[in-house]
Amino acid sequence: MSSDILSGQIALVSGATRGIGQAIALSLAKAGATVIGTATTDEGAQTITKYFKSHQLSGTGKRLDVTDVDQMTQALNEIKQERGAINILINNAGVTRDNLMLRMKEEEWQDVIDTNLTGVFRLTQLCLRDMLKARVGRIINIGSVVGTTGNPGQANYSASKSALLGFAKSLAHEVASRNITVNTVAPGYIETPMTSKLTEKQTQSILARIPMQRIGKPEEVAHAVLFLASSEASYITGHTLHVNGGMAMI
Ligand code: NDP
Repeated sequence: MSSDILSGQIALVSGATRGIGQAIALSLAKAGATVIGTATTDEGAQTITKYFKSHQLSGTGKRLDVTDVDQMTQALNEIKQERGAINILINNAGVTRDNLMLRMKEEEWQDVIDTNLTGVFRLTQLCLRDMLKARVGRIINIGSVVGTTGNPGQANYSASKSALLGFAKSLAHEVASRNITVNTVAPGYIETPMTSKLTEKQTQSILARIPMQRIGKPEEVAHAVLFLASSEASYITGHTLHVNGGMAMI
C-alpha cells in the first residue's frame, strides 16, 4: 500500500498508549492520517504526543476515558474544534479482569462490559453524526479470538468481545448506504502489556494451539486495521478479520 493512502483523513484511536493501539496509531499516521490517540490520563496523552513527534508524524495524544460520558463528550468537542471531524474511528481500548465464573465478582464483570462494550457504543455514537453528514467513514472495532471461541476464566471478556460482532453487523446495516463501513479485527495472542500478565504455563499452553507457533506482533494487527481503514476496503462491511496465526480458523 502506498504511504499516503490516508492523507487528509482524521483518525481517532482509543487506548493508544501502548500495545496494539500504539501500533495502530503509528500505522495510520504513517499512511498520512492525522491521528488522535487516547489515554485515560494526561501523562498517557503526553506519551502519545511524544511518540508521534519522535516519529515525525502528524498526531497528538488526548485524555479520554470511555467509561466517563461527560469527559468523552468534552474531549470529542475539543478534537473537532482543534482538528476537524473524525472520519476513521478505531475502538481499541479494552481491559481484562479474568476470573473463573464461580469466583467472578460483579465489579469484574461490570468493569469489562463498561469499557469493552459500552465504551464502544458511546464513542461510536459520539463520532457517528459527523460521519453520516460527511457520507463517508470507517469504524473498526478491536475484538478478540475469544469472542468467537470462548476462553476459561474470561466469561466477562469473551462476552464483551462477542457482543461487538453483533454490534458491528447491526450498525453496518444501518449506515452502509452512507458509505460508512463497520468491521471488526479480532486478534489472537499478541505480545503486549495485556498478555505479559500471563504465566509461562499459560503462554506455553496457548502457543501449543497456534499453528504458526509464535505470538503475534501488534504491527500485524495494525496492518489489518490499515487495510480496512483504506479506500481499498470500500466494499467490505460487517466483516470480522481474524489475525491469529491460525489459532482458530473461523
Ligand atoms: P493494553 O492493556 O496494552 O492497552 C490497553 C489500552 O486501553 C491502553 O491504552 C489503556 O489506556 C486503554 N484503556 C483501558 N481502559 C480504558 C478506558 N476506560 N478508557 C479509555 N481507554 C482505556 O492492551 P492491548 O494492546 O493488548 O489490547 C488492545 C485491544 O486489543 C483491546 O481491546 C484488547 O482486548 C484487544 N486484544 C488484545 C489481545 C492481545 O493478545 N494483546 C488479543 C485480542 C484482543 P491507559 O494506558 O490510559 O490505561
